[in-house]
Amino acid sequence: EPILSLQGIAKTYNKGRPNAVTVLDGADLTLHPGEIVALVAPSGAGKSTLLHIAGLLDSADTGSVHLGGQDMTRLGDRRRTEARRAEVGFVYQAHHLLPEFTALENVTLPQLANGVSARAAQARARELLASVGLEARGDHRPSALSGGEQQRVAFCRALANGPRLLLADEPTGNLDPATSDTVFNALMGLVRDTGLAALIATHNLDLAARMDRQVRLEAGRLV
Ligand code: ADP
Ligand code: ADP
Repeated sequence: EPILSLQGIAKTYNKGRPNAVTVLDGADLTLHPGEIVALVAPSGAGKSTLLHIAGLLDSADTGSVHLGGQDMTRLGDRRRTEARRAEVGFVYQAHHLLPEFTALENVTLPQLANGVSARAAQARARELLASVGLEARGDHRPSALSGGEQQRVAFCRALANGPRLLLADEPTGNLDPATSDTVFNALMGLVRDTGLAALIATHNLDLAARMDRQVRLEAGRLV
């Protein structure tokens, strides 16, 4: 069974106004467990819009969104937020870690918010950080970490609550090529370990080529 299924997704901003922009126009996408898919398109083509619709942050004008086998298309706001917190992890170009907290705390906190005990949350956070080579960095605040380390912590945080879907928007966009590679390898390892599905928007064609599959956003459709 697919983790994510998008069917016939259409989205127009400023609909009915002179400045209307149709960004998505019949986009279809299916992601299976364990699959890492690159989303490749020029800037402004609608990658962020698609990621936000897939991640239940925004809704489409038409089309359907199924996540974990459940139809999310017409859920109310509260149920959508619950589903998003349970099923989806996000990573952005900037790490958005909390600056006052250590790496370990940044990965622990979302679990506490989700009702996990402090002991279990810390154990999982340590395990996640170790799996991306950061076992010795747990006590550092984000400002004391390199860009690549910050981004690896951001991946751990996104996966802290065990989502089935990981959505990443240019996760290596701020990093030099060697660091991008390290961060990408860490991401691949995490995804392979957990069996989740990942959709990763990137301009980096070398990284895109190493993923399981590439989809390109062209004229509002995925090919
Ligand atoms: P990408 O992530 O590929 O750069 P986006 O999804 O951010 O593309 O944006 C696609 C297009 O939609 C752009 O032309 C952008 O200006 C427009 N757009 C995005 N968000 C909004 C919004 N909230 N209101 C109006 N236009 C928007
Ligand atoms: P929290 O439990 O902190 O309230 P949310 O449910 O608000 O988390 O958000 C879940 C995920 O969605 C987080 O990874 C957050 O970064 C992302 N997110 C929330 N709101 C937005 C938004 N408006 N734009 C982009 N990402 C968002």
